[in-house]
Amino acid sequence: MTESKQADVFIVGAGIAGLMAARELARRGAQVLVVEQDEAVGGRLATRHLGPGRADSGAQFFTAREAEFQAWVDRWLDAGLVYEWSRGWSDGSLGTTPATGHPRYAVRGGMQALATHLAAGLPVQTGTRIVSIVPDGAGWLARDAGGSAYHAPALILTPPVPVALGLLDPDAAALAPSDHAILTHIDYTPCLSGLFWMNGDMRLPEPGAVQRPNATITWIADNRRKGISPDATLVTIHAGPDYSRQYWDRSDTEALNALASALQLFKDYRTEIVQSRLDRWRYATPIGIYRERCLKASDLPPLIFAGDAFGGPRVEGAALSGLAAAEHAASRA
Ligand SMILES: Cc1cc2nc3c(=O)[nH]c(=O)nc-3n(C[C@H](O)[C@H](O)[C@H](O)COP(=O)(O)OP(=O)(O)OC[C@H]3O[C@@H](n4cnc5c(N)ncnc54)[C@H](O)[C@@H]3O)c2cc1C
Repeated sequence: MTESKQADVFIVGAGIAGLMAARELARRGAQVLVVEQDEAVGGRLATRHLGPGRADSGAQFFTAREAEFQAWVDRWLDAGLVYEWSRGWSDGSLGTTPATGHPRYAVRGGMQALATHLAAGLPVQTGTRIVSIVPDGAGWLARDAGGSAYHAPALILTPPVPVALGLLDPDAAALAPSDHAILTHIDYTPCLSGLFWMNGDMRLPEPGAVQRPNATITWIADNRRKGISPDATLVTIHAGPDYSRQYWDRSDTEALNALASALQLFKDYRTEIVQSRLDRWRYATPIGIYRERCLKASDLPPLIFAGDAFGGPRVEGAALSGLAAAEHAASRA
């Protein structure tokens, strides 16, 4: 059945940017509505179940470089939602120990639990894919794939920028040339993420993860040692952008075999893969990011682009972008 809904601020995407924006706007008394195409909230904060175990597939940890975000993290630490996992990573070579750097935080139960926490009590409608957005008087009209309509004076778009641009009718909602140039400059690198349920322990260096930013395999982590998979050893492996592109169109089996080669160094000969699954993150990391925390479109009803392409290519950047978007939207809602 098609419906028609109204809100002060309509937010597309229930990743951390959309949810932080929604929380902040709700705190200020605005009536918000968040819609998310997936059945669960989180976006790239994605925790998967495999056999009796659990693994983070997208973001693995987060940092807090800005005081504004650290204040949120401190509250999550106090609530027991978040914990410090490490202060750095080994590159896997013999004798290396993690650096003693800034804290890398993880979330109890997996990264997605942070999104679930943020969404609690907010009007978030999952399983709803927006397919078109047009101006509607002084505001906006969005439609989902089922034909339902959403009216709001202000709109926050948090999908990856090429996806967000594809929702806007280019004739009815023509962006100013300068905004168009900024937004079309933003691109994303892909990431193949393999999750492997192992029948024995792994021998990854402390604290159970290896990071090699410029290698073909950039990340290997044992989710049991991380503390989110007490009943099974599940390993997450990420391929770097070039290796991800190389295997992007191959079958899941071929891509998983390529990723699984990285397991050899860290397992004994008796340890085998019980089951595996692949996630293809087409929009993993933004490049050509914008210098401001969000972009408020000119010459159109209130329309704000937000997400990690604005605040910085990580969880913290996306969160701060959501807060900045809320600030702009609040002044117009
Ligand atoms: C493999 C991988 C590893 C990473 N590792 C780290 C890490 O260790 N540390 C770190 O800080 N960051 C990491 N990141 C980056 C981090 O995950 C992101 O910066 C952050 O989660 C982005 O949040 P966001 O809200 O901007 O976007 P997203 O999480 O992508 O949220 C956008 C949401 O919009 C929804 N959506 C899209 N189109 C529509 C539509 N038409 N209708 C309705 N909903 C729609 C999507 O389903 C999604 O839920 C990683 C990312 C990936 C993919």
